[in-house]
Amino acid sequence: MTDDLRARMFRDLQSDDLFAAAHDAALRYADGIDARPVFPDAVALDGLAAFDEPLPEAPGDALAVLRQLDTHGGPATVAQIGGRYFGFVNGGVIPATLAVRWLTDFWDQNTPLYVTSPIAAKLETVTEGWLRELFGLPDSCVAGYVSGSSLSIFCGLAAARYRLLERRGWDVNRAGLDGAPRLRLIASREAHGTVGKAVALLGFGSDNVEWIEADAEGRIDAAAVPELDASTLLVLQAGNVNSGAFDDFATLGARAREAGAWVHVDGAFGLWAAAAARLRHLTRGIELADSWSFDGHKTLNTPYDSGVILCRDRDALVGALHAAGAYITWSEHRDGMLYTPEMSRRGRIFELWAALRYLGRAGVDELVEGLHERARQFADELDAAGFEVLNEVVFNQVLIACGDDAATDATLVAIQRSGECWVGGTRWHGQSAIRVSVCSWATTAADVSRAVAAFVAARAASGG
Ligand SMILES: *Cc1c(COP(=O)(O)O)cnc(C)c1O
Repeated sequence: MTDDLRARMFRDLQSDDLFAAAHDAALRYADGIDARPVFPDAVALDGLAAFDEPLPEAPGDALAVLRQLDTHGGPATVAQIGGRYFGFVNGGVIPATLAVRWLTDFWDQNTPLYVTSPIAAKLETVTEGWLRELFGLPDSCVAGYVSGSSLSIFCGLAAARYRLLERRGWDVNRAGLDGAPRLRLIASREAHGTVGKAVALLGFGSDNVEWIEADAEGRIDAAAVPELDASTLLVLQAGNVNSGAFDDFATLGARAREAGAWVHVDGAFGLWAAAAARLRHLTRGIELADSWSFDGHKTLNTPYDSGVILCRDRDALVGALHAAGAYITWSEHRDGMLYTPEMSRRGRIFELWAALRYLGRAGVDELVEGLHERARQFADELDAAGFEVLNEVVFNQVLIACGDDAATDATLVAIQRSGECWVGGTRWHGQSAIRVSVCSWATTAADVSRAVAAFVAARAASGG
């Protein structure tokens, strides 16, 4: 690197202008969130052509890079931090966690080992204890901090595979799967797509899964789950991605413990019900499982990305995920990479810790319960406006139809175009449905009413 470029970067680092500009642009964005369309309009999307440029030949100006992104990129964002984004199961962002992110971005910690970041190791340990306590899980549970549930489900299933095979005298790390004792995998037809992905990545093969029918709300039919044994991995779900429904953990968990089967719970957004007094009943028996995966970036409203694997069997998780290398320096403290597939990782623990440190037990309860209240309000107001609510609203999800599929689809498109709010579509019991997911602390009762008005207007505009 030339001295000239290095000198320029040092100037950037000390430049009030550069970081003040980022700060101003960010706060301007937050201030204007309510006024912008929830999904970018056509002008904003056309503006993305500003990025169709050749790779620059030479270093440029840092402020110009920032300004280009702010000017042409900002308008093409989805207003996810506002109160009227109800798409997928996304989640807003708690301001305290954003501030922590700004600070810790400057720290630029890499978090595989204690020696690469003592503070990250410390907070990973502290947060692990807090999570066990919030969800009422066994003291032996350890946590691995990953990018999201796609990966934490993978980790849970990998730990299960390691342990179930080890009990049959087979070391899957060394011997692989060829010739291994056969494991049984049982999951609901309503399992999330990422379960199927983990099954494929781990070499189980989705054709080998015993897929169990679900009931009308999307809960696994517990009576249809066959006899379990010590070679079985059963995947359950806390929070169906469409209906929000919860499986029967108490019945199936007890059966699994008796049989020595492994239970993994995909609780991406729904596990947080266990941390809310009035919703905790949904997760009854959850402590009987062996591993649990969930996100920080959904219900808890940490910034993206943040997922966690909790596992009661530390040696199984570490056995499945550990790596070795002569240069790796293990410590008596926590070395985070023992619990994750990744080695280098950003310090996403700072934001997760900050969310819990800021909210406390009561704040988490209020946040989770509040999402449910807004979802109930959504369902009640839409019902009163003549829409059909297709699910029992037990958590934060509402499924809506208005007449036949054509009418529902047309209404959905009109809502999305309105910019008033954003909701996605899905199929539910063979019919088209509009999927509302209330996931942000920022959603007020007025936001819900305004979104309902957008539903009504969209239905009228599309001829319904
Ligand atoms: C979102 C979701 C996932 C996938 O989680 P990511 O964090 O997006 O990887 C898995 N299962 C359920 C039930 C989900 O809602």
